[in-house]
Amino acid sequence: AIAGTAYLAHGVWELRHPEEQFEPDPSKKNLVILGTGWGAVSLLKKLDTENYNVIVISPRNYFLFTPLLPSCTTGTVEHRSIMEPIRSITRHKQAAVKFYEAEATKIDHVNKIITIDDNSDIKGAMSKTGVPYDMLVVSVGAENATFGIPGVRENACFLKEIGDAQQIRKKIMDCVETATFKDQSPEEIERLLHMVVVGGGPTGVEFAGELQDFFDQDVKKWVPEISDKVKVTLIEALPNVLPMFSKQLIDYTESTFKEEKITIKTKTAVKKVTESTVEAEATGPDGKKYTEILPYGLLVWATGNAVRPVVGDLMSQIPAQKDSRRGLAVNEYLVVQGTHDIWAVGDCAVSGYAPTAQVASQEGSFLARLFNTMAKTEAIEDHIHDLSSTLNLKPGNAAEIAKEIEENEKQLRRIKDIKPFHYTHQGSLAYIGSDRAVADVSWLNGNFATGGGLTYLFWRSAYLSMCFSTRNRVLVVIDWAKSKVFGRDVSR
Ligand code: NAD
Repeated sequence: AIAGTAYLAHGVWELRHPEEQFEPDPSKKNLVILGTGWGAVSLLKKLDTENYNVIVISPRNYFLFTPLLPSCTTGTVEHRSIMEPIRSITRHKQAAVKFYEAEATKIDHVNKIITIDDNSDIKGAMSKTGVPYDMLVVSVGAENATFGIPGVRENACFLKEIGDAQQIRKKIMDCVETATFKDQSPEEIERLLHMVVVGGGPTGVEFAGELQDFFDQDVKKWVPEISDKVKVTLIEALPNVLPMFSKQLIDYTESTFKEEKITIKTKTAVKKVTESTVEAEATGPDGKKYTEILPYGLLVWATGNAVRPVVGDLMSQIPAQKDSRRGLAVNEYLVVQGTHDIWAVGDCAVSGYAPTAQVASQEGSFLARLFNTMAKTEAIEDHIHDLSSTLNLKPGNAAEIAKEIEENEKQLRRIKDIKPFHYTHQGSLAYIGSDRAVADVSWLNGNFATGGGLTYLFWRSAYLSMCFSTRNRVLVVIDWAKSKVFGRDVSR
């Protein structure tokens, strides 16, 4: 009761998790979940943890609400507002869940053991060990694709984790302060204030929009001498940005960017990056190719996903994965092809859908339903088995027992009839700067595509409702209000 009251005092109106700690039960299977992203967390939320010894392993001990990560790069939203400790999720489960903050470095699917490394700087402590599993869910996501382009890893910033957003935020102000340094040459000022974004998918577009907002609404007021020198350029290899949106919304985004003075360079593929320049191959209107060299101060690389080494290594151990390139090929129940006790969800799985948060989250919920059902069917099967054995021992009650068996079998058939995973697309949303957003939404069996200020309010409310917890929601609203009233913080 005291613990419960203490929890209420934190303003969260839910009962606290009972105080028992994780104690593996030898009669239950070890269910190991790798990751704390969209897939893993939606699985955890709906999983009945009493049925298994649930162990979660991830190098990140929090869930990150990635849709608002671009807003973190300019301080529109503070990073802690979109992080939710994994323990605030596990402590609400019926049965305790074990969490290890570590990276899974190897999955040995023959001996069913995972090697984990906690990558800690703390000297002397145990940092590498093995965790056995009976059932494994791989939901480790993906890493940033660089396509082996030279210089990207060394010089560009990515936008996947909180650390990336913090690094970008620092780098923006670094460029501004260095550009205004005494006696800085005009060429160097131009270079430092040129912000280049590579990749015209939603990540690149949303970041470019946020960045231009930051300059227009805040930095230029605080540092007026740079106001006519800042330039944001978005580079995309394909003929247009946001290929997953309708033509109308692509046009709307491109014209909004023009108004915002963001330069879009389409049909331009970056081939090389140095400390201060981006080298790209552009295709002119006549179809001729030419090389462009763009000096930059900040370079953000958002060209999509690549397979993580631990996933690539697992794929190389399983012959059925030989032809899969983009991740673990799974069947319609999300079982990794070539295995029977490993499932994969989210960006590390190839299930025929785009690698988005929405897909990962629906896949996670599907697995929770599947695992809850599996546990239930096992229990019923055991019960039927017990009943069948008593049938011989108590012949007098045969009719009664047979009836019960039949009922149980009926129930079993109903439960077992679990349909394969099917994704329901709710729509796509993207913020494009200057208080405008684009939305392709499917509602009431119809599709509608909209862009503009009202869509921006819709974007805000949709993202707010998707935030993990009430605490996150409150913090994000406060951040939005704060940056509106006081402006964003321009300190480095
Ligand atoms: P993406 O894969 O959607 O886009 C990357 C873009 O980079 C592509 O258009 C590609 O042509 C371009 N590109 C690749 N190499 C290039 C090069 N060398 N030079 C220039 N351009 C190059 O990547 P993303 O935006 O990170 O998104 C990843 C996934 O997450 C997608 O499935 C996306 O739909 C999803 N996502 C959705 C949202 C949203 O709905 N708001 C937001 C972020 C991400």
